[in-house]
Amino acid sequence: MQLPADYHMHTPLCRHAIGEPVDYARCAEAAGLTEIGFSDHSPMLRDDFDNWRMFDRQLDEYVAKVQLAQKNFPQLTIRLALEVDYLPGQEEWIQKLAARHPWDYFIGSVHYVSESWDIDNPAKLSEWKKRDAFEVWKIYFERLAMAAESKLFDIIGHADLPKKFGIRPTQDCTPLYAHFLDAVAKSNCAIELNTAGLRKDCKEIYPCRELLQLAFAKHVPITFGSDAHVPEEVGMNFIEAMELARATGYSETCRFKQRQRESVWL
Ligand code: ZN
Ligand code: FE
Ligand code: FE
Ligand code: ZN
Repeated sequence: MQLPADYHMHTPLCRHAIGEPVDYARCAEAAGLTEIGFSDHSPMLRDDFDNWRMFDRQLDEYVAKVQLAQKNFPQLTIRLALEVDYLPGQEEWIQKLAARHPWDYFIGSVHYVSESWDIDNPAKLSEWKKRDAFEVWKIYFERLAMAAESKLFDIIGHADLPKKFGIRPTQDCTPLYAHFLDAVAKSNCAIELNTAGLRKDCKEIYPCRELLQLAFAKHVPITFGSDAHVPEEVGMNFIEAMELARATGYSETCRFKQRQRESVWL
């Protein structure tokens, strides 16, 4: 069975991942993948914004590391990308980032629901206790819709990230998903099936089946990502993710090259 491309993996430059791109490439080959893409946490406008991403001055080094993997593994297709944090007001910065290297795609992710709270950060887990879960989800999905509408991204990352720690609202979230997916469909971007959720407290792929079903109904294309932060996580749980996609109705996935999308059979 042909596995889809793993389009979400990190490098040590983000300060919380281990293994060089060449190590991820080696693991990808061993896992039977034919295409991968590096999408490490992009620099922010200010280098002291947080401590879990590369510094601006390391961007060329990042590209060189990915190019070294491309050179050493010519039989594997290796794409050059970034996971870019969407924060309202930083659109111009992201545009400039896009012009600095020949990226194959940008994953737009929302981790921040305010300037200071990255909701998936275990060090800030106590913040969840101060807030109503549904309020957090509302802000998060509103920002995610804005990320899609910005047209700065090819793929929207881990679409229901707020479930990471297993804290879920009791309210029906369907209207939040629908509003977000309308923005995605209108902007013609894709969403990813991110298997990292299976390794977190929520024990579930991002996004959940319900969100994915809505995405399929709105003809939103999908990609796959392990969100590997160690080489051994490359391609992890991809069979399960493919099964979820197929059960939802998907028979295609997509690939990116130079920010151009192409559909391939799943
Ligand atoms: Zn990370
Ligand atoms: Fe992320
Ligand atoms: Fe990631
Ligand atoms: Zn991630």
